[in-house]
Amino acid sequence: MAVTTRGERRLKTGHPWIYRSDLRRVAAGPGDVVRVTGTDRRTLGYGLYSSRSVIALRMLTRRDVRPDDAFWRARLEAAIRYRESLDIDATAYRLVHGEGDRLPALVVDRYGDVLVVQALSQATDRLLPLIGELLADLLQPVGILARNDPQVRALEGLDRTVELRHGSVPQEVEVREGAVRLAVDPWRGQKTGLFLDQRENRVAAAAHAGGRAFDGFSYTGAFALQLASACDEVVAVDVSESTAAAVARNAETNGAANVRPRAANVFDVLRDCDRAGERFDTIVLDPPAFAKNRGAVERALAGYKEINLRALKILAPGGTLITSSCSYHVDEPAFGRMLAAAAGDARADVRVVEKRLQSRDHPVLATVPETSYLKCVVLRKM
Ligand code: SAH
Repeated sequence: MAVTTRGERRLKTGHPWIYRSDLRRVAAGPGDVVRVTGTDRRTLGYGLYSSRSVIALRMLTRRDVRPDDAFWRARLEAAIRYRESLDIDATAYRLVHGEGDRLPALVVDRYGDVLVVQALSQATDRLLPLIGELLADLLQPVGILARNDPQVRALEGLDRTVELRHGSVPQEVEVREGAVRLAVDPWRGQKTGLFLDQRENRVAAAAHAGGRAFDGFSYTGAFALQLASACDEVVAVDVSESTAAAVARNAETNGAANVRPRAANVFDVLRDCDRAGERFDTIVLDPPAFAKNRGAVERALAGYKEINLRALKILAPGGTLITSSCSYHVDEPAFGRMLAAAAGDARADVRVVEKRLQSRDHPVLATVPETSYLKCVVLRKM
């Protein structure tokens, strides 16, 4: 597989993606592991080929050695060892984060002794039997579930399926995150069951929390339950009815009688609280990605501004806002400008107490901006 000069330059910067327009000669089938050559026919390394995605190649290695089973085992071992080095105080976390672990288009999440995998390219889909075998051997999980149902699979021409790959996987797994216990449904929960990228931010949020708290976009209450032990009351709002029931159950498991789940639209609730003059001392905002692509950035920023503006209005003086965006296309400077505009409109003076990223088990690769997508800013109202 030959790439253009532009493609070659890109690889030299350390970015693993080659777009289709930068391929010079295609001699590969869907999902093949291919040798990649530059303009002077020198080998640039090996990559995963996709016949459908605009990302036609995802580089695996710059070495001139065809990746074999031992290569995959070593990459998986390196990902596992990195997590071991982090001293993670939880039984659920991400073991493999695609490009961030030099395992492009592959996700592996651990929920206790169950693994959930996602193959997000033609090649990782084809390699899943091998990857499953290696994971079973390296980690001895009781079960491996393939949650191959994310929408991005359609870009690769892959179907969307959920299937058991190894052993058995129960409908519900209990995991621990710091002092909090959470029930997870690996088969039907959002993503692979939990939003693991916010794990460390949830624990950090608790350290800033107190008084009356609001958890906006709560899902099953992972933030709310971290806040509960530091707060008098936590109102947890998510638009989905089933989610409110899950929050209630998780609250009971943790003996957190001060968590009040509510199935409602956060935009409406914040507006009503503002009108009614309600006040909160701690507010968490963790909305879904408002900008799924570049074209949606402007509307997304308007949405982010609306919720942050209202939150800053109903935040009591001295109170803390922990606010996030997981839209890659809304980058950190844009998120910061939006927060400044929201604070200005709310006539609030706020200190930036902390700027945080996704949890360390979702590694950011210095040369790959796309691996850094989550922003979490802690603000204190003066
Ligand atoms: N904070 C959660 C993850 C939130 S994911 C955690 O740490 O686990 C985003 C959640 O927002 C989803 O559960 C989705 O159901 C919910 N949601 C999306 N739009 C919403 C809206 N307008 N109002 C309330 N909840 C919404």
